[in-house]
Amino acid sequence: MGKINMATKAIWSGESDYLAFGATQVPVVHSVSFGYDDLDEWFEVATGKREGHIYGRNTNPTVKAFEEKIRELEGAEAATSFSTGMAAISNTLYTFLHPGDRVVSIKDTYGGTNKIFSEFLPKMNVDVELCETGDHEAVEREVAKGCKVLYLETPTNPTVKITDIERMVEAGKAQGALVIVDNTFATPINQNPLAFGADLVIHSATKFLGGHADALGGSLCGSEELVEEVYHYREINGASLDPMAAYLLLRGMKTLKLRIDQQNKNAQEIAEYLLTVDAVEDVFYPGLKTHANHDIASRQMRGFGGMLSFSLKGGMDAVRDFLPKLQYANRAANLGAVETIVGPARTTSHVECTPEERAALGIPEGLIRYSAGIEDVEDLKSDLQQAFAGLKEPMELRR
Ligand SMILES: *Cc1c(COP(=O)(O)O)cnc(C)c1O
Repeated sequence: MGKINMATKAIWSGESDYLAFGATQVPVVHSVSFGYDDLDEWFEVATGKREGHIYGRNTNPTVKAFEEKIRELEGAEAATSFSTGMAAISNTLYTFLHPGDRVVSIKDTYGGTNKIFSEFLPKMNVDVELCETGDHEAVEREVAKGCKVLYLETPTNPTVKITDIERMVEAGKAQGALVIVDNTFATPINQNPLAFGADLVIHSATKFLGGHADALGGSLCGSEELVEEVYHYREINGASLDPMAAYLLLRGMKTLKLRIDQQNKNAQEIAEYLLTVDAVEDVFYPGLKTHANHDIASRQMRGFGGMLSFSLKGGMDAVRDFLPKLQYANRAANLGAVETIVGPARTTSHVECTPEERAALGIPEGLIRYSAGIEDVEDLKSDLQQAFAGLKEPMELRR
């Protein structure tokens, strides 16, 4: 058979080795340990000479099936998993960065990632350089000074800025740096960083991969050698994915292609609609021609994703008035679920920042992050329309 496509991989990949008793679905294996009557066999599994499981902190069959599915979707040689997306990020960074090393990244990484860069790595005497997001020359300049790791995220949270992966890989490779990409916002359906030469790709499986906001998890994909190093760090430090969460993520991933196709479409249509609304000051979505790096996004993404953001002319007061009026949206901190989810950047991604810091990051106080769900887009648009129409002082907001 030739090339297997994404929708088929999302459904079939990774599962066949983990089915039992003729079941067509991967079971949740709730067992802390895996026993051996034959001591020689036990020894061989324990030393990695034979396939098998020993202890739940290291490996588990349900968790393995999840790892296999994401590995196939990212087109990687190997994959491992973690209890959360942040565990995937921190375990990966702590595996490769040691005292005296230097890491280059961007200012707009996920809030938790930014805390690792600003709070924890400096304590370990790791030199951190965060560049203006989207300023490729600045990243190239800093990478050229030498670094162990170049860490990227594209699109970013919450203003969906885009970084050219291929160009950054070239800069990183010239210095022998490891290039790591957080692919959570794009998902493997829309973007495969490894195909552009990145070394490692990370997901918060909590978001689009699971897609139903009912399980936390993280993944790392890349070469056998690199993934094995991080796996070793994780098995010892203990941020393992729970089998029940792995099962929920696996089940969610079966519809990944369907969901992402719908979310791509819904987000595009909503972004275009928002451009026509008077009370809206700015709309950020890589699928809009007005987006600063629409051309780069068009080159490296097969779809522009389900995440967008927009600012209201009335600032935070308007946001406070507007958000509770939406009927078909959860007001919550997560994203990437089947339901539409909204929240101000102020209380979600950048809650730790002062207004001045948010301004410096180009995040307007009236910014709303919008994670398009898979609802009928006409209903989502009507919902937004009625919320805009009900704003307390529409004339004043229009200025
Ligand atoms: C949510 C998120 C994370 C962290 O994932 P958790 O599963 O919440 O730990 C990392 N990166 C991005 C881009 C995210 O959206």
